[in-house]
Amino acid sequence: MNAQGEDVVAGVRTPQTIDQLAEVMPEAYAQFVEICNKLEQHYRDMQDMEFTIEDKKLYMLQTRNGKRTAAAALKIACDLVDEGMISEEEAVCMIEPKSLDALLHPQFDPTALKAAKVVGHGLAASPGAACGKIVFTAEDATDWAQRGEKVVLVRLETSPEDIEGMHYAQGILTVRGGMTSHAAVVARGMGTCCVSGCGEIKMDEANKKFELAGRTYQEGDWISIDGSTGNIYGEAIPTADASIGGEFGRLMGWADKYRKLNVRTNADTPKDAAQARKFGAEGIGLCRTEHMFFDPDRIAAIREMIVSGTVEQRETALAKLEPMQQSDFEGIYEAMEGYPVTIRFLDPPLHEFVPTEEEDIQALAKEMKMDAEELKAVIADLHEFNPMMGHRGCRLDVTYPEIAAMQTRAIIKAALAVQGRHPEWELVPEIMIPLVGEAKELHFVKEIVVKIADELIAKSGMKLTYKVGTMIEIPRAALTADEIAKEAEFFSFGTNDLTQMTFGFSRDDAGKFLSAYYEKKIYEFDPFARLDQVGVGRLVKMAADLGRQTRPDLKLGICGEHGGDPSTIEFCHKVGLNYVSCSPFRVPIARLAAAQAAIKNPGK
Ligand code: PEP
Ligand code: MG
Repeated sequence: MNAQGEDVVAGVRTPQTIDQLAEVMPEAYAQFVEICNKLEQHYRDMQDMEFTIEDKKLYMLQTRNGKRTAAAALKIACDLVDEGMISEEEAVCMIEPKSLDALLHPQFDPTALKAAKVVGHGLAASPGAACGKIVFTAEDATDWAQRGEKVVLVRLETSPEDIEGMHYAQGILTVRGGMTSHAAVVARGMGTCCVSGCGEIKMDEANKKFELAGRTYQEGDWISIDGSTGNIYGEAIPTADASIGGEFGRLMGWADKYRKLNVRTNADTPKDAAQARKFGAEGIGLCRTEHMFFDPDRIAAIREMIVSGTVEQRETALAKLEPMQQSDFEGIYEAMEGYPVTIRFLDPPLHEFVPTEEEDIQALAKEMKMDAEELKAVIADLHEFNPMMGHRGCRLDVTYPEIAAMQTRAIIKAALAVQGRHPEWELVPEIMIPLVGEAKELHFVKEIVVKIADELIAKSGMKLTYKVGTMIEIPRAALTADEIAKEAEFFSFGTNDLTQMTFGFSRDDAGKFLSAYYEKKIYEFDPFARLDQVGVGRLVKMAADLGRQTRPDLKLGICGEHGGDPSTIEFCHKVGLNYVSCSPFRVPIARLAAAQAAIKNPGK
């Protein structure tokens, strides 16, 4: 009362609640409520209205659709449907898919965030807010967290050894890396906040300190990072945990009713698969089998396989891997409750897996009963100038068919075991061969798979069908998709590699120069986060069409990180893919985006 709007905005006066107006000026209040209802009816949305009262006369100054938090957006959409004001389809289209992140991940306290100062910026690699004390190694992250401390792990870059520490950390901040490099992909899979590629940081890992914006940060200093914006704050900002209310389920139910695309998940462990199922995933679109060995007590086994110099050595290593894989596959089939599961053969870029630390090399040499110097020579021999285009994917199976044989056994034996336990499900394992660029190469690996799978199934006396397909992630595979489809029963577009190889820049290093491209308006967005529909998308569409010419019932999906991006999902809907696959925490976003794509593009 007796104040101007500006007084409120400036914080000079604290407004009373609106219902108090009913007591002081009942007539103006009644008129105000009537106008509010009329405006809300007219705009069919929650309004943010400005008014003033002078000499008891009410003046409306402005109205507009009100800003809202994600939780409020869901409540408003549901209320509007219940009041008969909007349809379910309109409600589905009212929600920004990416805003769901705020419901699924911790967020900063908004008032504290406003007062905080941004000291640096990196890539918004995995959403959510994290606040904790700085640690520089994964071991410290684990130790400190086990003592009850909240920590943020700050690294130059992450490697498979860091996985345990990443689990314990509130958030991960890296100096190097892009949207599809190790830290980003793994953090998204775990639902942990991550800011990657902050090149402004001058890192001194050896002395456990770094410099950013003129300040030196030491172990134990507080830091806060926002994985949804990429902002870094050199102070503690309180966070609030994620919370999902009842409206979320209702809106997701409507989304499921209208979408045409299926939504699967990229999950590598039974735990992630179960999480994704809770978020509504309808199967696994990508299980990166090399990720099953990130665990500290497992990584040695896969390293042993990689550095094996002879078939015998490799067979010994593979014999250690097989039971681990089989039991994980069983866990994943169980978690997916009969929904389709695509398991990809090993695709470890060597630079991510070959040991570099002296103590790891010593331990591995001991395990393999090898001399450490001899092992170092093997490792030096494995060095590749460009590991992303090196000896990975199906090239490993071509050189070492025993790897494909072991993985086929693990996949089929696990499927037979779970099928036996759950006769009510009809399991159809999908075996996916990665990094194929030539139909004959796929044919070669497929022959190994089919021989072993058929033998195992025949021996079991059970009935089990399986599919063999491939990833389309090399431009040559897209260009020759009609040939590839003669061998492949399904295609899954690996748009991380397809983007890398179509643009000709590395998914790990492009962050260093891409910012110059955004500044100069050459590129408008990160092609590793949102699909470049003009170029890479053309290859996807071409491959989809060519593949279906050869095999009309070819199943098509996408499993690159783009599979969780709303604009890419709309593209996938238009191109006629069967499903998108994304990390577990993006599944709700993908379900909503797929529904919006179907509603906006009827008849497609
Ligand atoms: C891809 O390349 O898009 C893909 C899903 O495989 P990865 O990221 O494991 O190379
Ligand atoms: Mg790939």
